[in-house]
Amino acid sequence: MNVPAYIGRFAPTPSGYLHFGSLVAALASYLDARSVGGRWLLRMEDLDPPREVPGAQDAILRTLESYGLQWDGELVRQSQRHAEYQALVERLLHQGLAYACTCSRKQLQGYHGIYPGTCRDAGHAPHNAAIRLRVPELSYGFIDRVQGEYHQHLGREIGDFVIRRRDGFYAYQLAVVLDDAWQGVTDVVRGADLLDSTPRQLYLQELLGLAQPRYLHVPLIIQPDGHKLGKSYRSPPLPTDQAAPLLVRALRALGQALPGELEQARPAELLAWAVSHWDVGRIPHSRTLAEAQLR
Ligand code: GLU
Ligand code: ZN
Repeated sequence: MNVPAYIGRFAPTPSGYLHFGSLVAALASYLDARSVGGRWLLRMEDLDPPREVPGAQDAILRTLESYGLQWDGELVRQSQRHAEYQALVERLLHQGLAYACTCSRKQLQGYHGIYPGTCRDAGHAPHNAAIRLRVPELSYGFIDRVQGEYHQHLGREIGDFVIRRRDGFYAYQLAVVLDDAWQGVTDVVRGADLLDSTPRQLYLQELLGLAQPRYLHVPLIIQPDGHKLGKSYRSPPLPTDQAAPLLVRALRALGQALPGELEQARPAELLAWAVSHWDVGRIPHSRTLAEAQLR
């Protein structure tokens, strides 16, 4: 069988438009795939309709196209995968690996986001309850291609985590692991804000007997005051008529040594240069980068 050696993906959430930080992550993922002749897939992570901004899905697709980031194959939407997520949740419940939690937000205050295990053995019915996955008292770690070694003790630092919310929507952690495996993704390239989600995903992969992809977390672009760019902060959407200068800036954020004469080039030329000169070793080994320094 001719299995492609590299399958990458970009997986935006339509709770907002693409911003400069998403461009840096999308570009890194695209270049990492294309530089080795790999496939690059697009998956819309539309798991949370109440938080979806109307028109954001279309705007994201149009932005990627105008920046020359052409994906392979059909767009996949997580909203079309509920049956698979539900089957998995039921299986995990049935196996006793997951359980229903009826804790209110107020009850969980004071635990710093680490679930104290209140409902572990309560035997609540799964209706009108969140479903949590039991985590082992173990540390999960991996070697990130840019950030280096990263470890997290799931019991002490996370606790049993939600895989289906009380309102019935599926959690990112569950869907991302299932879909990366289903789509045959070999390489996850994304923002460093997801570094601390990775150990949960490693545990799920182990539990489900799924292959572990390679990981590369690019620095998160932040505002001078330390805020992350994006949804809550309402950073401006990427202008479709500024593709070339913003690609230049994104390449600079990724440490790529773009020759001066290409600074006026068109998006297609910039991408062609970047694909053939992609150098992961030049990406800054830092979790964050201040946007102002890149102008
Ligand atoms: N949908 C996630 C986000 O937009 C990214 C998921 C991933 O790359 O694993 O933050
Ligand atoms: Zn609970």
